[in-house]
Amino acid sequence: MANMTKIGDRVRCLKCSGEGHVVWVSQDGKLAAIKCTKYHSQISPSPTKFSSHAQTKMKKGMVFLVEVS
Ligand SMILES: [Zn+2]
Repeated sequence: MANMTKIGDRVRCLKCSGEGHVVWVSQDGKLAAIKCTKYHSQISPSPTKFSSHAQTKMKKGMVFLVEVS
C-alpha cells in the first residue's frame, strides 16, 4: 500500500524545518499544500518601481505547495 499524503498529516516545513500540516492534496496525490505553524520572514517585492526598497515582514501560517511522490 502506498502511503498517501492526506489532509491533516504532519509534515516538516521545507522552509524553516518547523512543524506544518497538510491542508490540501491534489486529486492525483502528487501535489500537496503545506501550512506552516511558524512565522516566516517574507520579502515583499516592491509594488511599484517608485519604491526604493523591498519590505521584509514576518508572516504566520504560510501555505505553500510541494510535490509528493
Ligand atoms: Zn515554516
